[in-house]
Amino acid sequence: MSVMERVYIETFGCQMNVADTERAATGLRAEGYELTDSEQSADVVILNTCSIRARAEQKVFQRIGEIRHRRRTNQPLIGVMGCVAQLEGESIFDQAPSVKLVVGTRATDRLPSLIKRVRNGETRALDLGERKGSEAWEVSASERHSKHVAFVPIIEGCNKFCTYCIVPYSRGRERSRPPSEILEEVARLRAEGFREVHLVGQNVNSYRPRTESGLESFEGATPFSRLLRALASTGFPRIKFTTSFPRDFHKDIVKALEEHENLCDWVHLPVQSGSDRVLKSMRRGYKVSDYLARVDALKGARRRIALTSDIIVGFPSETESEFEETMRLVEACRFDGLYIFKYSERPGTPAAQLPDSVSEAEKTSRFLALEQLQMSIQREIYAGYVGREVSVLVEGESARSKRDLTGHTTCNKVINFEGGQELLGEIVRVRVNEAKAHSLYGELCV
Ligand code: SAM
Ligand code: SF4
Repeated sequence: MSVMERVYIETFGCQMNVADTERAATGLRAEGYELTDSEQSADVVILNTCSIRARAEQKVFQRIGEIRHRRRTNQPLIGVMGCVAQLEGESIFDQAPSVKLVVGTRATDRLPSLIKRVRNGETRALDLGERKGSEAWEVSASERHSKHVAFVPIIEGCNKFCTYCIVPYSRGRERSRPPSEILEEVARLRAEGFREVHLVGQNVNSYRPRTESGLESFEGATPFSRLLRALASTGFPRIKFTTSFPRDFHKDIVKALEEHENLCDWVHLPVQSGSDRVLKSMRRGYKVSDYLARVDALKGARRRIALTSDIIVGFPSETESEFEETMRLVEACRFDGLYIFKYSERPGTPAAQLPDSVSEAEKTSRFLALEQLQMSIQREIYAGYVGREVSVLVEGESARSKRDLTGHTTCNKVINFEGGQELLGEIVRVRVNEAKAHSLYGELCV
């Protein structure tokens, strides 16, 4: 390569995609590419895509159109990476002829060689292959999305095949990283000055590595709770993890959280529905009573653990009374946060065979009713923090005012407070003096 090519990567979707972008950027830089934040000046534009709902997928094709339009006189090399790439494969070239690269979810490390192939004259390059056994998860500090918080994938893919979900098709089967590799990465992050790690995966608590190396001295009912104890014992300041799958949520995880202060007081445990019939049709593998038993274990912990969840409204044939059951479950669980999704049919999934009997208007009205209920609960929970002191990792300047800083509490709530830049990256105590539905405001404790 004569001149350094500039690559711009735009990321959609979940933390796994953010982690993949960081990994791709590390690999590109190692091969002599420059990474840029400017789509306008990039020689190569890569869209790292999400296909969880139809709308996420449509967005990609819209973005390709926008880029082509804005760069009419100086077209970049356009590539599609991630879940849409994996699912649509070759057909992306037909749908969007300006795309020259299609890079599947496990081909991240081969991105530089795919770019080279096109630069050397191939009209298009496509790779939907698996990761190679020798590929370790390497991300350099400078490519991380934050200087203070790092995402550490511990498991990729999903074996659960919930009937509505595309993830097992886009990300393949579950593959757990060796514990020793995760421990080494976390030790490196600590040396680099990171203060918080998020262990990420579609279902972190389904973690099943092939080897125990690194976990030998740690007890636990499951490999995941042993990994949590192993990581906690390194003294890393803050450790969070997401997402937890309810069926595999062993109460030993709660015990580990009780034992170690640096395992943060927040669990994301998506329930999806409050109706046993709907849960069965979704093939979630648990009943409402099983979920509530997990919630009881969390609520009974020695320190308060914040609980957040995901719910799908308007799953095929969900009746009004089944939706009411979901409302009652939300009242009972009192989540600290809730992501609500309208059911979106994904081609090729078993649920796509079911008649999508809930009208769009009905989905919207259920969405709004649930949102209203959640907001009233969330306001009360957030208001309960007023007058309390919380521990905050200072992550950046607040968008609202240059004099304010922003960060997250250990229970993963956003908090803003007045303070100087010298506090960036520090863990500080903040007294909460105001609460909104999604964030807290406070002042630094001296
Ligand atoms: N593995 C996690 C679990 O099972 O709880 C969830 C991962 S998924 C990337 C994130 C969320 O997207 C799900 O919890 C679900 O609520 C939502 N989701 C997945 N497929 C969907 C679909 N077809 N329509 C609407 N929401 C969907
Ligand atoms: Fe999708 Fe279910 Fe796997 Fe979660 S557990 S990623 S919802 S198939």
